[in-house]
Amino acid sequence: MNEHVKCLIIGSGPAGYTAAIYAGRANLAPVLYEGIQPGGQLTTTTEIENFPGYPQGIDGNMMMADFRAQAERFGADIRFGIVTSVDFSGHPHKVTVDGEKTIEADTVIIATGASAKYLGLPDEHKYAGKGVSACATCDGFFYRKKRVAVVGGGDTACEEAIYLAGLCEKVYLIVRKPFLRASQIMQDRVMNTPNLEVLFEHNTLGLFGNEYVEGAHLVKRKGESDETTVDINIDGFFLAIGHHPNSEVFKPFVETNEEGYIKTYPLDTPKTNVPGVFAAGDVADSNYRQAIVAAGSGCKAAMEAERYLSKLK
Ligand code: NDP
Repeated sequence: MNEHVKCLIIGSGPAGYTAAIYAGRANLAPVLYEGIQPGGQLTTTTEIENFPGYPQGIDGNMMMADFRAQAERFGADIRFGIVTSVDFSGHPHKVTVDGEKTIEADTVIIATGASAKYLGLPDEHKYAGKGVSACATCDGFFYRKKRVAVVGGGDTACEEAIYLAGLCEKVYLIVRKPFLRASQIMQDRVMNTPNLEVLFEHNTLGLFGNEYVEGAHLVKRKGESDETTVDINIDGFFLAIGHHPNSEVFKPFVETNEEGYIKTYPLDTPKTNVPGVFAAGDVADSNYRQAIVAAGSGCKAAMEAERYLSKLK
């Protein structure tokens, strides 16, 4: 017989755990599936400096462990598992985990977050785990005293480049535009890090190396009359060019925008086009993508789930 739950939460970042705290306190006995990356993206960042309540900053893993403990304190049933398909065509909603177990849920909160983007170069596959990474804090350790490059010009790229600069002999930041998109404070830090060199107006053509990455072929001012190609010698190639929402499995039922972010409306609510299905955090937020915003939207989703359930009665 299928298991039946009042509130099923999918995802374990700030949005999922906050939804679990609120749903637990509302006696909804939430069941939460953690997904591929328990704790979500914050477990792959270094220090979180902008989450209120931590004046000295906090390690991402520690913060998510606190979120999790708080959810468990209020009775959330947190499980390891990946949602492989859903059926939102009727009531209750059906959610299949790991391709085998089907759970019936009166309400579902989707908080599956977003995943790192890659450039789409064949060499990213060729050297996967052999010098190519999308997580400096996970893999930076392997490149101590070596030379690496980070691709991207946003806050993530700057944060990762600065982190790696503390470990590595030399860090290149490969930026396709003539300026950084990152916040001013991060730009200043990048510019004041001596072993970090910003390569503005550069794009990556490919990687080279026998078994492991030994360097990258770059092009400067691509398509311009003064276009030039340049090779850099590196041992590690880190992607930090943004993320795409983890919404694929829900698309047959839940409306998304052209980038794949789940549409919610009215805009300041977590309601999707499917009654009883709510979306919170980065999977539905192409704009802010901040932990504090994700936590707030998780709270809203749990409150809406509770309201929906009381009407259902
Ligand atoms: P962003 O979307 O802000 O930046 C992505 C960067 O990657 C841009 O510089 C973009 O270039 C570049 N890029 C995208 N595609 C390519 C490509 N194909 N080739 C080369 N470069 C490419 O993503 P982030 O992950 O940096 O940040 C996401 C959000 O999270 C932001 O709102 C950011 O402020 C926030 N954040 C905040 C942090 C903090 O406050 N501590 C830390 C990390 C993130 P271009 O500019 O040319 O488009």
